[in-house]
Amino acid sequence: MSPTSVAEHRKRVAELVGLMPVLQLPLDECLGLVLAADVIAPLPLPPFDNSAMDGYAVRAADLAGELPVRLRVADDIPAGRTELNALEPGTVQRIMTGAPVPPGADAVVQVEWTDGATDTVTINRAVVPGQNIRTGGDDVRKGDAVLAAGTVLRPSTLGLASALGLPELPVRRRPHVLVLSTGSELVEPGTPLRPGQIYESNGMMLASSVRDAGCVATQLRFVPDDVEAFHQALRPYLGAVDVIVTSGGVSAGAYEVVKDALADHDVQFTKVAMQPGGPQGSGRYEGVPVLSLPGNPVSAQVSFEVFVRPALLASMGHPRPERPTARAAITSGLTSPAGKTQFRRGLHDPSSGQVVTPVGGPGSHLLSALALSNCLIEVPEDVTELAAGSEVVVRYLQ
Ligand code: AMP
Ligand code: MG
Repeated sequence: MSPTSVAEHRKRVAELVGLMPVLQLPLDECLGLVLAADVIAPLPLPPFDNSAMDGYAVRAADLAGELPVRLRVADDIPAGRTELNALEPGTVQRIMTGAPVPPGADAVVQVEWTDGATDTVTINRAVVPGQNIRTGGDDVRKGDAVLAAGTVLRPSTLGLASALGLPELPVRRRPHVLVLSTGSELVEPGTPLRPGQIYESNGMMLASSVRDAGCVATQLRFVPDDVEAFHQALRPYLGAVDVIVTSGGVSAGAYEVVKDALADHDVQFTKVAMQPGGPQGSGRYEGVPVLSLPGNPVSAQVSFEVFVRPALLASMGHPRPERPTARAAITSGLTSPAGKTQFRRGLHDPSSGQVVTPVGGPGSHLLSALALSNCLIEVPEDVTELAAGSEVVVRYLQ
């Protein structure tokens, strides 16, 4: 069977995960999610003419003569005042920043240009009409499409929605991803290690990656290489999660628990033309999309980056589900297997003149090299050797 290309498998995974449903979510749950419909401003911003300064609301014409001028302070308007008295000619009203400008006033004199008095104020400088007034609607007009469908909700966009008085927004919800590691050799950190055992790392790494992608993760305690234990571990979560991500047990050896357990389900096990991360499983387990990643830690994490993360972001309607890429020159040469896309780990410093340094070798057990890297170096299928200084595509990991 000829291997599946990276692009083909990426497409299959994205199709399996599909699109999450749209719902209205409170603003404080929307950070990082994507707007599913345009937002039409229900009111203008600012909602009313208000003062840009602490000072005095005036008629500019009353300051047009000789200065300084003394005028009676007829009222005091703090921010939040809801009822106003019209400004009578020849008087002023003390006003605070953000307070509504009273009818009849056409400018605000900042307090620094006055003696600050509260009964009769002395004003030293004139103003022109409109000065220090923030006109209603000068930021947003009522009925404007202020935020377009597809906008990723960031602190500033959530602030804008709140300023518009919107308690919730339409978004595609976060997928809930169940992460399950397999392997009889795996031991939980914090418990003693016997000879032949290792501490588990993929579950922590993959669940964190799910959360880093803005999704909800449940990290299930890992299961031994036992088919019945595998089914039993998943059973309580069917119907409750959107995607299952497993690691380990998909290679060509014996005791390949994931392969054995899912063989008679709607799950395909393929060889993808990539290194690391060749063996991949994908399909549905009791109707739930399941993505079975290989067990070597670097293979599992690279598989997540290349296949799972873009599919999860796309499921929330993200306009750019792929990590950003850049072009950089490698600082040392490397070799790559023919017919496979190689993803090497690298350290890229954009401020150093677009160079990338390979970190560690190609081995898929080199977890510390992955931890020290900030990008993947992509070596195309047909390239087997790259000399130092060659230009490569780097895909950021953060
Ligand atoms: P497997 O794909 O199950 O054959 O595992 C391949 C290699 O990855 C073996 O050396 C495993 O011990 C290791 N491995 C598998 N799963 C994990 C895990 N969750 N954490 C750390 N190492 C793992
Ligand atoms: Mg295993």
